Parts: sequence; C-alpha cells; structure tokens
Amino acid sequence: IDFGAKTVAREKKQEMVNEVFTKVADKYDLMNDLMSLGIHRLWKDEFISDMGSFRTSSPLSFLDVAGGTGDIAFRIADKLKHEIPVYLPVHNQITVSDINPGMLGVGKQRASMLGLNLNWVEANAESLPFPENSFDYYTIAFGIRNVTDRLKAIKEAKRVLKKGGRFMCLEFSKVNNPIVSPFYEVYNRYLIPNLGSIVAGDKDSYQYLIESIEKFPTQEEFANIMAEAGLSAIHHRNLTFGVVAIHSGLNL
Ligand code: SAM
Repeated sequence: IDFGAKTVAREKKQEMVNEVFTKVADKYDLMNDLMSLGIHRLWKDEFISDMGSFRTSSPLSFLDVAGGTGDIAFRIADKLKHEIPVYLPVHNQITVSDINPGMLGVGKQRASMLGLNLNWVEANAESLPFPENSFDYYTIAFGIRNVTDRLKAIKEAKRVLKKGGRFMCLEFSKVNNPIVSPFYEVYNRYLIPNLGSIVAGDKDSYQYLIESIEKFPTQEEFANIMAEAGLSAIHHRNLTFGVVAIHSGLNL
C-alpha cells in the first residue's frame, strides 16, 4: 500500500512539473531574465567555462538533459565554434533532451533562428533512450530539481556517460551568508510569485518554483547523492553566495 501511495505521489509530482513547464514555455526565457535580473546568463556562462577545454583530438559528444529551450546547448555550440578551428556539427554532436515537448518546441525554433543543427529528444531524465557509454559530457541546468527520483536520474547519467565522461549540474542551492540570506528569502517568497503573476499570469507555477528551490538538498547532500550514484572526483563551486552551485563529477 505504501509503495502504491509513493507511486501515486511520484506520478503527481511529475504531472505537476509538466503542467508548470507547459504553461510557462512561451514566457520561460523572458521570466528567467526578469526573475534573475539577467544573472542566469552569467551563471550559465560560468557553467560552460567550468566545462574546460573542448580542444580535444577526437570529437566530443554532449547530452544536455532537461535542456528546455536550449540555453546550455547553444552555449556549448558557441564554445565549440570558438575553440575548434573548423567546427563541424556532425562531428561534435549536441543532444538536447527534455520531458516537455512545449519547452523543446521553443528550443527548436530558437535553434533554427540561430542556424544550429542539434538533436532534440523527448525523454524523462530517469530513463534515457540512449545506450550506455554514449556521451563525453552530461549537463543538466536547473533541471534536476524538477526530477522526482534524483538518484535514479544521476545513475542514468553515469550509465550514458563514457568512461572518463563528466557529469555537470547547475542548480539553485543554499545561501549560507547571514547577511545575504534574509534578502534572498524575501526576494524568493514575495517577489518571484508576484512577478510570475504579472508577467506570465501564473502565480502558482512560480510558487512551485520557489518551493522546489527551498526543498532542494544542500551542496553537501547533493554531493552525497552523486557519490551514491557512483560518480567520482565530486566537487562543487558556489556562485552568488550559493544561490546556485555548479556540481561536477566523473564517470571513472
Ligand atoms: N536547462 C534549461 C535552462 O537552464 O534554461 C531549462 C531548465 S527548466 C527550469 C527545467 C526543465 O526541466 C523544463 O524544461 C522541464 O520540462 C524539465 N524537466 C522536468 N522534469 C523532467 C524530467 N523528469 N526529465 C527531463 N526533463 C524534465
């Protein structure tokens, strides 16, 4: 009975998450800019620069999970163009996967405006439709928070990564600074849902967003989940006092 109840709760959560992103897909990029005052762009740039050099002798393959409207994938493509003298998208494959076709739809439109040819795959992070040992990089930005079974998703990440491949996660985290903390809380609790209500006409979705941030594990707890999933060389770097953190681990 307990198992049944858990299953229902799990399905409910994913259903709710899907509803949220289906509702906000059109306004998602604008809301990101407004809510973070554009800072999410800097966080994503930092994340990409932490991926290290893409100048390798053999081509790299990238998987961006919960990739939504493509922000991370477009930045990876941009970095490849800068670092590889003759950029051949065929050789450096970028795959974007997301559970929500609405978000992927917006991403595809943006990609065609940018002239980028990426693979777009509708999939749940908990069970990916890729063979093991497929990718050099697995990235997930502001996505793992929405996944119901995070351990399962990170085990999937390890499975699809090549040996020596790298898991990288950008996610809201915990602010430990006693001066910054109260401001951040007011901002989250009052400003975000109201902005959501004014711009996207949808207070509840943004209320969900804040709750999911508050419930997310600390930097250290998340490192433990990564270790449990079998990743090695785990570390994290806080950005903006820990408002977000970049987590990294290797499949050794
Ligand atoms: N990575 C993008 C970015 O940084 O702008 C999008 C992040 S958005 C906050 C979260 C994304 O996670 C949404 O596109 C949502 O559809 C996706 N998502 C939620 N649950 C998922 C799951 N179980 N598997 C894969 N994607 C999921």
